[in-house]
Amino acid sequence: MRLFSKIKIEKINAALQKAKKVAIISHYNPDGDAVGSSLAMYHYLKNEGLEVKVILPNPFPDFLGWMPGSGEIIIAEKKLSAAKKILQEADVLFVMDMNAPHRSGANLEQSIIASSAFKVLIDHHILPNIDCDAQISTPNTTSTCELTYQTIVKLAGTKEKVTHSVGTCIYVGMITDTGSLSYMCNRPQTYQILNELMKKGVDGERIHREIYDNYSESRIKLLGLCLGQRLVIMRKMSTSYMYLTKEDLKNNNYVVGDTEGFVNYGLSMRGIQFTALFIERENRIRISFRSKGDFDVSRFARTHFDGGGHKNASAAYFYGTLEGAIEAFKIALEQYKAELLPEKLV
Ligand code: MN
Repeated sequence: MRLFSKIKIEKINAALQKAKKVAIISHYNPDGDAVGSSLAMYHYLKNEGLEVKVILPNPFPDFLGWMPGSGEIIIAEKKLSAAKKILQEADVLFVMDMNAPHRSGANLEQSIIASSAFKVLIDHHILPNIDCDAQISTPNTTSTCELTYQTIVKLAGTKEKVTHSVGTCIYVGMITDTGSLSYMCNRPQTYQILNELMKKGVDGERIHREIYDNYSESRIKLLGLCLGQRLVIMRKMSTSYMYLTKEDLKNNNYVVGDTEGFVNYGLSMRGIQFTALFIERENRIRISFRSKGDFDVSRFARTHFDGGGHKNASAAYFYGTLEGAIEAFKIALEQYKAELLPEKLV
């Protein structure tokens, strides 16, 4: 079925017309695209006169706290019974920027599955696996925010309903999910949408300042530590990796979101094609992968760590020690020697 078939859009509009309550949910550790797409849809539906609630499994990073509507978000980790009730009572449920119910965490997975709402999935991860009534999912886009923009325009039948607030939220996800338009950024359509957002008065300069020049002291110190003392370069494999221990985080007063984007530094060196970042959490290791060009880190994460994501950006959890995770990574890497030969780099 086409991404925005007429039937699909009509079905969603019909469900919204009958709906009293709408819920919007996104993934655990919400990023700019998760918060942006959820809030963009929130503003659109609210302006249409609907009762809308946004639920996020756990807090979003501080640097997104300025976003319009962010104060209205219900954080399930803090208000679990309220969040579950909203999911249970929703007539329409929008599932944003995630491809499976468990991405919302163990606390909400069952509530999403059990919800009798008309479910709409808007997402750009591969292999969508959510039982839904309307699915708008493709990896061929910058972000869920870009898809959300298109969805809103289709649902409304006009660009008029993309208000300044809607546009601001859309812009956040398009920028953060492309590293400020440095990857997944070769489609003309992306710039057509950005052009429309600029016409709505979206302030790109301000958004950039809010997101990138607004870091906590702990983040900058952790970044210094990460780059200075926790970076390992494997030239023969065109690979680098970094890690942070539990003590590193504690000693630097880590707060949620502080390490967001660190992984990209491992890839920003000449001659490096593949990088990983290992972060020691309470009882598991969070691993992020990034690559340049053809090396598929989504496949790598899936095959060796039961993770997933996109071709050039993926993630996984490892249940064991930090040393164990790095060891498993190095063993897995052996299989890709031919693909990662330095001379294969362009
Ligand atoms: Mn995304």
